[in-house]
Amino acid sequence: MSGEQTLKAVRGSFLDITRTVEHPEEIESALRFIEDGLLLIRDGKVAWFGEWEDGKAQIPSSIRVRDYRGKIVVPGFVDTHIHYPQSEMVGAYGEQLLEWLNKHTFPTERRYQDAEYAREMSTFFLKQLLRNGTTTALVFGTVHPESVDALFEAASQINMRMIAGKVMMDRNAPDYLLDDAESSYLQSKALIERWHKNGRLLYAITPRFAPTSTPQQLAMAQRLREEYPDTWLHTHLCENKQEIAWVKELYPEHDGYLDVYHQYGLTGKRSVFAHCVHLEDKEWDCLSKTGSSIAFCPTSNLYLGSGLFNLQQAWRKKIKVGIGTDIGAGTTFNMLQTLNEAYKVVQLQGYRLSAYEAFYLSTLGGAHALGLDHCIGNFAAGKEADFVVLEPTATPLQQLRYDNSVSLVDKLFVMITLGDDRSIYRTYVDGRLVYERT
Ligand SMILES: [Zn+2]
Repeated sequence: MSGEQTLKAVRGSFLDITRTVEHPEEIESALRFIEDGLLLIRDGKVAWFGEWEDGKAQIPSSIRVRDYRGKIVVPGFVDTHIHYPQSEMVGAYGEQLLEWLNKHTFPTERRYQDAEYAREMSTFFLKQLLRNGTTTALVFGTVHPESVDALFEAASQINMRMIAGKVMMDRNAPDYLLDDAESSYLQSKALIERWHKNGRLLYAITPRFAPTSTPQQLAMAQRLREEYPDTWLHTHLCENKQEIAWVKELYPEHDGYLDVYHQYGLTGKRSVFAHCVHLEDKEWDCLSKTGSSIAFCPTSNLYLGSGLFNLQQAWRKKIKVGIGTDIGAGTTFNMLQTLNEAYKVVQLQGYRLSAYEAFYLSTLGGAHALGLDHCIGNFAAGKEADFVVLEPTATPLQQLRYDNSVSLVDKLFVMITLGDDRSIYRTYVDGRLVYERT
């Protein structure tokens, strides 16, 4: 195909953030809003981005321009923590973390030993992401390698930027969900060889959390990390007080929960720790020093009664934070709804989450937390063309509030507060239309 045939042109109002920041006050100066803009895409990447008037002469007459004026085009949302095999158990009633795992999660995850079932649910899961405008996610599979094969196969069909891994879990769960240190190593290794950097797919070494891994298994996770230093590490940390007490019982020789991961070499760049609701001072410092990232999962933390994540402290400590929906303890795939809850979580702690900060965390900031800001997160030339067309006035109430909001920041805040999957008008992955709201 000639370059001209693979060129695509999108017109509309565009909003993105041009650079990563260390303080939330810097976000506004990095914000870019182009009321009448043009995005040119070639071979799935941003070829040119700017004002319509400045760029329109580059559009060959044979190209049909996708005209989204009246809508707002933003970079695809980044979900930094989610469990695909828990899609079918969202909204399981009544428990906090440890009981919730035993009663609801483990029986559900058992089904993913069936490769065909895993394939069906992978398709369902990806559709849910796309209809909610999420174009990149860091994803837990189950202990079964089949679950990860199924997800990666489905994601590779639309060339989605996705990070995932097989759960490593060799104790404190039902027998039917346990691997062992050796098999978890060998299975993870085979998956890394098959999928890591295969197209846009990336692998995360995924011990579920310290209580379900023996020291021998964490040593195997460390070995994988040493053998494949450019993979990711994805796990849970300090979500629930009972969980923390349990880790201290299981690993008495360690200096707290995070020290378990740290001593096995599992902190560092491309290490993403979900929750971090109850961190001690030394743990904030360790995350900061090692360049580790946090996935802030507001709907999950509220739903399981885990507690309130201290976002302000993360900024103070210069720790990268992204937003996680944490399906199925989280209650929505939708990033706008998740940001709405994030606002309330920090409001309860006397901190105000601005619309710009929320937008940052769910796009470029989330990409930064995943170590992917060089390839996704905004419309910089050369980046991968994953984006969402938002409909700011999808309901009568949204229309009313949007019309009586004057500034961009107010309009964006209303979109976050009142938005949901109806706000997602189109989703593009790799420059191609992959979801169309009907
Ligand atoms: Zn989780």
